[in-house]
Amino acid sequence: MTQHYHPDLLAPFLALPQGDKIQAEYVWIDGDGGLRSKTTTVTKKVTSINDLRVWDFDGSSTNQAPGNDSDIYLRPAAIFKDPFRGGDNILVLAECYNNDGTPNRTNYRYHAKKIMDQVKELEPWFGIEQEYTLFDMDGTPYGWPKGGFPGPQGPYYCGAGAGKVFARDLIEAHYRACLYAGINISGINAEVMPSQWEFQVGPCEGISMGDHLWMSRYLLVRIAEQWGIKVSFHPKPLQGDWNGAGAHTNYSTKAMREAGGLKAIEAAIEKLATRHDEHIAVYGEDNDLRLTGRHETGHIGSFSSGVANRGASIRIPRHVASQGMGYLEDRRPASNIDPYRVTGIIVETTCLL
Ligand code: ADP
Ligand code: MN
Ligand code: MN
Ligand code: MN
Ligand code: MN
Repeated sequence: MTQHYHPDLLAPFLALPQGDKIQAEYVWIDGDGGLRSKTTTVTKKVTSINDLRVWDFDGSSTNQAPGNDSDIYLRPAAIFKDPFRGGDNILVLAECYNNDGTPNRTNYRYHAKKIMDQVKELEPWFGIEQEYTLFDMDGTPYGWPKGGFPGPQGPYYCGAGAGKVFARDLIEAHYRACLYAGINISGINAEVMPSQWEFQVGPCEGISMGDHLWMSRYLLVRIAEQWGIKVSFHPKPLQGDWNGAGAHTNYSTKAMREAGGLKAIEAAIEKLATRHDEHIAVYGEDNDLRLTGRHETGHIGSFSSGVANRGASIRIPRHVASQGMGYLEDRRPASNIDPYRVTGIIVETTCLL
């Protein structure tokens, strides 16, 4: 490990009283789909985003603005509890705006929010299965033999036991940190490729899906930093016979969740079929390396759907088909999606066209 944390040295300082002041960590999405954050002291306990100021940062250092006009505004959008500092300290997910008041090019939340506001009464719910891969600081998958490979895929998915799972302590820490923060995390599992994991967030209504997923990713990369482990959201982190990483997006409206909702699910799938290319365009970079038609994916070039079919673009879970209501699973989104873009286009296609 090339990077060292000193939790024993830090602990007594974190235990010091901090008076009436709290620390607010503003988190935002940068010009390359990464996460950035910085802290400000707030003079009293925060109960709503209206208690927080609009802040700014140097967008020329994050690929979000030119140097001669570099100030980007951070407008608070959602608050979570801070599992690193504890107490009343908070994490603030913020949207990026240019100085003329227009949304920064990286601000997909702005556009998704407009779409979600139009369909409030349809109550769109989402659940995203975030897959990701862990790497050592030297660039090899975490826990893999140096200069070699572990045995072929098979024993690792939902595995238990030494040699089958890697970094379970890190994954446990992340799960509990998400629960503490107020993120609607619904589960975790080890994936098919060793050192690849998944967590699920949802069901979340409307715009909150993106808020919760982005903040859960932030917690993951912050915690992994303490372990000296790198998190990759690349959809095909390793060439060859190793599974890629996706972000299956489960989706329902109120009508789909009610008795006979399968009709509404089928109608939505018909609409999705007409806009395959438009969806693929916002379903993640390098997704062509993953959607090959192998490794439990449908081919990127064609749309397909089916009950319990993990080789299709859209899967209707078996239990949904048998109950005649529930939700659909869009299996196309890659692990590196911006969830605001994905949830936005799903609602646009199925509810607004
Ligand atoms: P899979 O069987 O594909 O591995 P998971 O159990 O990993 O599915 O994830 C399913 C996700 O779907 C969870 O995040 C869950 O909260 C979400 N979900 C459950 N019901 C609904 C619903 N009605 N609408 C949208 N999402 C839902
Ligand atoms: Mn400064
Ligand atoms: Mn899953
Ligand atoms: Mn999975
Ligand atoms: Mn799935």
